[in-house]
Amino acid sequence: MHRPIYLDCHATTPLDERVLAAMLPYFTQHFGNPASVAHQYGWEAEAAVQLSRQVLADAIHAAPEEIVFTSGATEANNLAIKGVAEAYFSKGRHLITLQTEHSAILDPCRYLQTLGFEVTILPVQPDGLLDLDILEKAIRPDTILISVMAANNEIGVLQPLAEIGAICHHHQILFHTDAAQAIGKIPLDVQAMQIDLMSLTAHKVYGPKGIGALYVRRCDPRVQLAPQLHGGGHERGRRSGTLYTPQIVGLATAVQLGLDELESETLRQVELRDRLWHKLQPLTGLHLNGHPSQRLPGNLNISVEQVDGQALALGLQPIAAVSAGSACTSAKLEPSHVLTALGRSPELAHASLRFGLGRFNTLAEIDRVAEGVIETIQALRSR
Ligand SMILES: *Cc1c(COP(=O)(O)O)cnc(C)c1O
Repeated sequence: MHRPIYLDCHATTPLDERVLAAMLPYFTQHFGNPASVAHQYGWEAEAAVQLSRQVLADAIHAAPEEIVFTSGATEANNLAIKGVAEAYFSKGRHLITLQTEHSAILDPCRYLQTLGFEVTILPVQPDGLLDLDILEKAIRPDTILISVMAANNEIGVLQPLAEIGAICHHHQILFHTDAAQAIGKIPLDVQAMQIDLMSLTAHKVYGPKGIGALYVRRCDPRVQLAPQLHGGGHERGRRSGTLYTPQIVGLATAVQLGLDELESETLRQVELRDRLWHKLQPLTGLHLNGHPSQRLPGNLNISVEQVDGQALALGLQPIAAVSAGSACTSAKLEPSHVLTALGRSPELAHASLRFGLGRFNTLAEIDRVAEGVIETIQALRSR
């Protein structure tokens, strides 16, 4: 059976065969518990974890002790936001974040509000970028944390991390960034960008699901973090639970491959993405969502006038696997909070398509998808 072309790489990516190959020995052969210090089985697993930790730290210019392994970016975000809030609440109870953040940021913030914390959720400009003056004005003497994502999961917009980091450090406020979509796709440097905490995940960069990490700065400043999972004291007490060796090896391998191929893949994906956008131009009533160039190489997000969002998603389903504004958080039928934050009407937010191109997409696929999108929209409009 012919399956639709996969263009939903912001939701998840296929596991790269090279990542799988690196992981396999750690399921059956080197299966030891990295915390078993008394025998060779433990040492083998611990050596793999240590190497992976080093690879990951090098990838973001951190030190190995600053990496805390988690089950993914959702957990890393929860640990960062709730862990900092709990550790610093005597210093202040105010946090700042953005309207366009992932729910794994917004929901922990809303939870903290129920505990008496105050959260300022800043708007973004129509292109999705944060206005730094607005950020400066939102800072209060009791602000303890600013959380701004590196790359948006819907519109791919890249926030100016270094500029935000400079503002945070000038005011001595901790800076957290959710880099789930960014790691292995754009260069990240926690020193140059003055990032104090950074959430990572493997499955958006051709690694396995269920593994991620939180970078936690160790000096200038030393970030205090209240653990959210208590137990055996793993990860220097910051996150208990037996380390998942194969997944950790997979995370490190995936990130390393992403960096190794970053330049060539950026060029290739930008070309494919721009080709898709160009090919759609014969259609009238198209709107690009998000900044035209300050975005992830593989991201294209469009709104389409004069079509019903749900019919559009349904019509495209046999051709390409994309995310539609109408089905984004498929449990609820509200339009995307990201697109409405850009000022899009509910209709245009519903009638939107997110194309997430990736490592395994080809030029021929892009051409086929462009044709299919044009045909589908024309057919819906002529009904
Ligand atoms: C996917 C994603 C998450 C959640 O990551 P998991 O590893 O699936 O928990 C968080 N933030 C952003 C921006 C994402 O794209």
